[in-house]
Formats: sequence, structure tokens, C-alpha cells
Amino acid sequence: MKKIVVIGSSNIDLIMKMNRLPEKGETVTGAEFFQVYGGKGANQAVAAARAGGNVAFISCVGEDAYASQMIQQFKDNGIDTSFVFRETGMPSGHALIMIGGQGENYISVAPGANDLLGPEKINEALPIINEAEMIVLQYEIPRKTLTHIINIGNEKNIPILWNFAPAQEFDFSYFSRINILVLNETEVGYLAKMQVENEDEAENAAKTLIERGVEKVIITRGAEGAFVLTEHEKVRISSYRVDAVDTTAAGDTFCGALAVALIEGSSLKHALEFASAAAAISVTRLGRNPRFLLDLK
Ligand code: ATP
Repeated sequence: MKKIVVIGSSNIDLIMKMNRLPEKGETVTGAEFFQVYGGKGANQAVAAARAGGNVAFISCVGEDAYASQMIQQFKDNGIDTSFVFRETGMPSGHALIMIGGQGENYISVAPGANDLLGPEKINEALPIINEAEMIVLQYEIPRKTLTHIINIGNEKNIPILWNFAPAQEFDFSYFSRINILVLNETEVGYLAKMQVENEDEAENAAKTLIERGVEKVIITRGAEGAFVLTEHEKVRISSYRVDAVDTTAAGDTFCGALAVALIEGSSLKHALEFASAAAAISVTRLGRNPRFLLDLK
């Protein structure tokens, strides 16, 4: 089966759900606590594996107890972890998340070991990258690592699917070397420096990226649907209508499943539909696929 190599972050999310967020300096008690594995890289690797893909994951975890549990979870999902590096003396990536009664939140991320996924680690992982039929990236690892991977992918003619999230500064000249760019409306607005609040505006913003040489731009629009834009066509689909309980990481599930469908040779429309179905299932499950609740027993 064709191999997908996902390269990106692994995190542990420590989540407090409470009736209201504290004011500065205030302590609010009575919260409900969850620990969830996350990180956009890990989420997308797990989503691709659960969608039936043959997945290898390249990532850095720390020396803490969570690291072994994360690696075991990847293995349990059938993911090749030969190049999940354990960084001595470093904590794994952590996100501290407080969620108030109306869904409002405070989030602070400590990348920890994720910051150590440098170009030299990518070189070490070349044996597995050489087997890749597609590389899947996000933007929670160092910029210099991403440019290095794009160079390698181009050299070896391996298509790159890049979920440009979270959106941050990047050298625009690299965009012409990306095959598939997946963005939500906020991210495409950021890249195009345009306000994006509806599909027409999203399409106009996506066009500017096509003009810069991206082969396919895929825009996800939450419950509204998604579309792909190329130089010659636009294909749009509606989202499945479901009762959403937790939309966190819907985009990650979408990307993982999309990679599987595309690598299997699906048409763009079918790939979007498959990705959208996987993401719709994920939003109906609280803290689940691909964010998997830590077994606390
Ligand atoms: P996140 O940052 O939470 O991972 P995102 O902002 O990157 O998400 P979205 O555009 O919100 O990505 O969602 C990705 C895809 O997930 C959508 O294109 C859609 O297919 C599916 N999706 C998201 N929310 C819903 C919903 N409420 N109902 C059905 N499908 C949904």
C-alpha cells in the first residue's frame, strides 16, 4: 500500500472546562479536567491511519511519561513510529487550555520537544521519506525544517500536502513548490492579506495563491463545506449535516483522510467528500478521533 509520511507536532492537551474563565489573578474552582493527545501532526497521522492509510509519522516527543503513551497510541493505530524521536531532558509539547461556559478559551502552547525537529532529524529519517508517495505537513514545527522538507520532496518528486496551520509568516517563493495547500478561511485570509467572510471572498483569496503557483488550494469552511481551486476548475462540496459536539481538530481529520483518498487516486470531488465525511464523524465525538482521550485508569 502506498505510504503517507506525516511530519509534524505531537502534543498533550491539558484541558479545564469551567463555568467561566478566571479574571487576572483569580482562582476559579469546580472545573472538569481532561488530558487529550493532540498536536496537528499527530492528529493528522492518526486520522490518516484510521481512514485506512499506510502511515509513517516523523515527530519529536520528550522524556516524560506521556511520550511513551503517545508512541504506544501511534503504534496502536498502526502507524510506523521508527522516526518518532525521544528527546532526552526535554518535555513533550504541551497545550494548556481553559474553556469557559460559552466555549470561550485561553490557550497557551509550549512546543517543548517539537522545537527540536530540525533538518538533521529529517535527514536521519530519509529512509522512510524515500518510501513516501505523499508528504503531509502542518506548521507547528520549525520553519527551517519545513523548507528543508519541501526541498527534499521536490528533489524526490514526492507530492506535498500542506495544511498551513497555524498560519504564520513564510517565504512565499516556496508556495509554487507545493502541490496541495489546505487552509481554512482565516488562514487563506491571512496569506492573501484579504478579509474572508464568505465563499466568494475565500475564492478570491485562494486565486491569489494559485497565481503564486500553488497547484491546488483547498479551502475548508466548517459546517458550510469545502472547495478546491486549481488554475482550471473549482470543485465544491457541502458538509454533512451532523450534530456537532466538538469541532476541535476537524481540519486535522479532514487533512488525514484527504491524503488517503488522494493517494488512492480518487477524483478531487470524491477525495473532498471522503475527507468531509471523516471530519463530520469526528465533530460528533467529544475529544475523540483523532483527539484521543488519555486513559486515566
Ligand atoms: P480545526 O482548526 O478545528 O481543526 P479548521 O478550522 O481547520 O478546524 P474547518 O473548516 O472548521 O477546519 O473544518 C474542516 C472540515 O471539517 C470542514 O470542511 C467540514 O468538512 C468538517 N466540519 C467542520 N465542522 C463541521 C460541522 N459542524 N458539521 C459538519 N462538518 C464539519
